[in-house]
Amino acid sequence: MDNILRLQYLEAMGISVWVPRASGFREQLQSSEALIDNAVPEASVSATDNWDKLQAEVASCTKCSLCATRTQTVFGSGNKHADWMLVGEAPGQHEDEQGQPFVGKAGLLLTEMLRAIGLAREEVFITNILKCRPPNNRDPLAGEVESCNDYLQRQQKLIQPKIILAVGRIAAQTLLKTDEPMSRLRGKVHTFNNTPVVVVYHPAYLLRSLPEKRKAWLDLQLAMHTVKDSEG
Ligand code: URA
Repeated sequence: MDNILRLQYLEAMGISVWVPRASGFREQLQSSEALIDNAVPEASVSATDNWDKLQAEVASCTKCSLCATRTQTVFGSGNKHADWMLVGEAPGQHEDEQGQPFVGKAGLLLTEMLRAIGLAREEVFITNILKCRPPNNRDPLAGEVESCNDYLQRQQKLIQPKIILAVGRIAAQTLLKTDEPMSRLRGKVHTFNNTPVVVVYHPAYLLRSLPEKRKAWLDLQLAMHTVKDSEG
């Protein structure tokens, strides 16, 4: 799609476009950038693990009752050697139908958010805490998160990203094993299995609360600078 068409398309859907700005983000961060390590115990990933094996296991998973209601599993998509790994909550209706993460309206905004920091969607790896859609998009249950945890950990081990973006409250609270609200989780660098984690607002939330867009921009800037710092 050419750029003008893309902008018109986004505008028609009520999505305002993200344009990269100059940084200066550090001064703008309202909270201190404490390094908080909330890593959960690592799942055992054997040296023989590989993408084909993992993908096949997820596709035929019956570890929880979501296997009875899903159309298909949503493994994740993108670059398997990505520096950036994005983790959302769970597939919704469109994702369940298409087998790809973040393909609805929120997904389009997520793609724009990435573009604003110079990343194409294909450059990053996008997945979710849950690989199956919960009925009526309800929040994931603890048992479902537990069943899926091994898959996420193995994805992270195989990718070895430089940063994880926790997309939205549920993803952030689950990854970081905390009940803290978004207001306390964002603006800081956390870690998950020794990988830096930055928390960003869920694009579905941003579509409803455009004033928060500025904070989301700061979070993306924090993530970008965290990656740069890790490269030395
Ligand atoms: N919301 C999510 O958290 N993940 C998706 O894949 C789609 C919507």
